[in-house]
Amino acid sequence: MMRLPRFQYFAPRTVADAAALLAEHGPNASVVAGGTDLWPNMKRRQQTPTRVIGLRGVSALRGVHGAPASGFAVGAMTSLSDLENDAAIAAAWPALGRAARLISTPPLRNMGTLGGNLCLDTRCNYWDQTFEWRKSIDFCLKRDGKVCWVAPGSARCWAVSSSDTAPVLSAIGAEVTLASVDGERRIAVRDLFRDDGIEYLNKRSNEILTAIHLPAQDGSWRASYRKLRRRESFDFPVLGVAAAARIVDGVVTEARIVITGAGSRPHDASSAAALLVGKRIDDRDAVVEAAERAARIAKPLDNTDFALGWRKEMARHHVTAALTDLA
Ligand SMILES: Cc1cc2nc3c(=O)[nH]c(=O)nc-3n(C[C@H](O)[C@H](O)[C@H](O)COP(=O)(O)OP(=O)(O)OC[C@H]3O[C@@H](n4cnc5c(N)ncnc54)[C@H](O)[C@@H]3O)c2cc1C
Ligand code: SF4
Repeated sequence: MMRLPRFQYFAPRTVADAAALLAEHGPNASVVAGGTDLWPNMKRRQQTPTRVIGLRGVSALRGVHGAPASGFAVGAMTSLSDLENDAAIAAAWPALGRAARLISTPPLRNMGTLGGNLCLDTRCNYWDQTFEWRKSIDFCLKRDGKVCWVAPGSARCWAVSSSDTAPVLSAIGAEVTLASVDGERRIAVRDLFRDDGIEYLNKRSNEILTAIHLPAQDGSWRASYRKLRRRESFDFPVLGVAAAARIVDGVVTEARIVITGAGSRPHDASSAAALLVGKRIDDRDAVVEAAERAARIAKPLDNTDFALGWRKEMARHHVTAALTDLA
């Protein structure tokens, strides 16, 4: 049985108290939301904070507020189950509820949160293993080792961004609020991620993600999410494609495609989506051309499930399917 290492647990009631604790204990501290990612990682000694700041008691971080006309603010501690069952979000941004529903299993979605999903650790076949397994290969660049076993000549880690909600939130133009003892700042979800398997977030170590802001929806935006995984019942995405477009009288006026599971951050393939602007959304040739271009932008490495060549091929199919959904 894998056991958690020893750590000190704090249970603040306010964001200010949580931020003060994070500032006081520095890089040895970590916040925990639902714990569905952090606790297993600590058991495998991938992350070993000596201080853990639980956000469960911070009630201000829960719930969905707002309306389609003004946009929504979703508290970072809102569970994935609450998100997938929220009627207002289902009406305004159904792709987000769908992405949440495709994450792992109902018990894990009851515990897992939207904030935790955005801050989820990057994944790799050489990383998501027990301590003893990783020790047997002398670890790797991501922690305690000197070599990246996926790309041995590489100076960087290529572990993969695997959040299902991140591509949808990026494609619809959502933003997040980050809070610390120094104040608050608001950034686009697409700017939250860095192309680095180790330092994968543009979030300072003393910052807490407090809210996710969904844009207003006047009915002209449509969005879609398609996910590839081995077991439909509960696996991480090996590939996830989010597409969003503003459609006026059947014609695309703005479009975005974001691909996850194919790099250390969700890939923005909006240059491919731009090929659709000015075209009818049911223009099959335009959809196929955009999907070809987007699939070339997504360059998966051989460090997750399935054969690399097949995953590349599936990228084209999934982008086509996601764009077809919009029609
Ligand atoms: C079997 C299994 C299958 C899974 N399948 C999927 C899947 O298909 N798709 C998917 O996307 N995920 C999957 N997950 C991962 C995980 O369950 C979800 O991503 C979940 O949303 C994580 O949220 P959490 O609240 O449990 O995060 P936690 O484990 O609490 O935290 C995750 C990380 O985020 C940080 N963090 C959490 N909240 C905040 C915050 N508010 N501010 C700053 N930092 C924060 C923590 O410090 C930690 O580093 C799976 C997990 C398991 C165990
Ligand atoms: S991509 Fe390389 S450095 Fe990163 S976790 Fe995998 S093996 Fe380790």
